[in-house]
Amino acid sequence: MLRAPILYLSRRRGLQRFVGRQRLTAAVAYRFVAGDTLDDAVRAVAAINARGATASLDHLGENVAEEPAARTAAQDYLKAFERIAAERLQANVSVKLTQLGLDISEDLCRGLLRAVLVRAQQLDNFVRVDMEGSAYTQRTLDMVLALHDEFPNCGVVLQSYLYRTEAGVASANAAGVRVRLVKGAYDEPADLAYPKKSDVDASFERAMRALLDQGTYPAIATHDERLIDATKAYARQRGIGPDRFEFQLLYGIRRDLQERLVREGYRVPTYGSFSEISSGSVGAEAIDSIRACGGGGNRWPKSPPKKTRKPSAAARNSPFRQASEYRYARNQVNARMAKTMTTAIANAARMVAVNPGRP
Ligand SMILES: Cc1cc2nc3c(=O)[nH]c(=O)nc-3n(C[C@H](O)[C@H](O)[C@H](O)COP(=O)(O)OP(=O)(O)OC[C@H]3O[C@@H](n4cnc5c(N)ncnc54)[C@H](O)[C@@H]3O)c2cc1C
Repeated sequence: MLRAPILYLSRRRGLQRFVGRQRLTAAVAYRFVAGDTLDDAVRAVAAINARGATASLDHLGENVAEEPAARTAAQDYLKAFERIAAERLQANVSVKLTQLGLDISEDLCRGLLRAVLVRAQQLDNFVRVDMEGSAYTQRTLDMVLALHDEFPNCGVVLQSYLYRTEAGVASANAAGVRVRLVKGAYDEPADLAYPKKSDVDASFERAMRALLDQGTYPAIATHDERLIDATKAYARQRGIGPDRFEFQLLYGIRRDLQERLVREGYRVPTYGSFSEISSGSVGAEAIDSIRACGGGGNRWPKSPPKKTRKPSAAARNSPFRQASEYRYARNQVNARMAKTMTTAIANAARMVAVNPGRP
């Protein structure tokens, strides 16, 4: 019921400004961030590189509703590539298709992704297309598969919680597309995704084996030590060396694990965010940010919160609906502010529902 008004309101400038003024915005983004600006991120990535790890930059935000915002996002990715090249950083970029206008027009999105891929290819770099909610799975896969012949420098993400993931792994493997395997961060219905963690994990293991056997330099992206151990064991058993795949972790999470894996000889870029909140607003125009995928960080707690509560439906529908970021950030850093904001959005949504003519 509330979802549409909330999404609508999240795009309203007044509310964006309200939300942008709250520390929450920064706190949620900062759970995994390396800094506020591209400059900060560049410094963070340089530090990561100095420790011998690689990094990837990602512009935080998704579901842009207007073409100029999509074009701005694409420009920001291009800027990130320029900086990576200029500063000789070991880093690549992760993009979200809804940030490049997938909700507006597939042609627009494809054109912008293409522009990013062209520049990445010129600079001998790599673009990872993140996977979003299930409404976008097929279109994301199709777009990456279609562009991959021309741009082998693009890869995709597959989520083991979806029943369809093994088929996705098979098609990516057949096309030689690099896959990052994750469990999945969105709330999906039981007819599309395994509701039970044990099934998600079992699916992850099956996909991991298929990727190690037939994939192209897969990235196994999890903090789950049981699955990491299963990956190491399977690779050993199949004689697959640590140069043929990599682990990925979130920025600032389980740095101990990252360091241990690196000592054991594995490649372990980790994934996190840095955020440039340019105009104090929220959403595509609002969180103008970049996500860094690189090893470790010293601004954030090393361990996860002891207890995480499932977010309410209103929280899940909030602009911060990437579940893992929301859950962990909210609980660890700013639980009270998150609640305040979610309530404010819900209240405002109710007002719009009551007064539909006065947005
Ligand atoms: C590099 C990378 C890229 C990703 N890209 C995508 C993507 O494109 N699309 C997508 O849907 N999802 C993405 N995710 C998120 C992923 O889907 C999971 O939601 C997330 O990784 C948590 O699952 P887990 O595999 O670590 O296992 P879990 O079983 O959730 O966690 C294992 C252990 O790690 C701890 N842990 C996990 N996450 C965190 C955290 N954020 N903070 C603190 N502790 C944590 C848990 O407490 C637990 O002890 C990405 C994850 C990573 C690591």
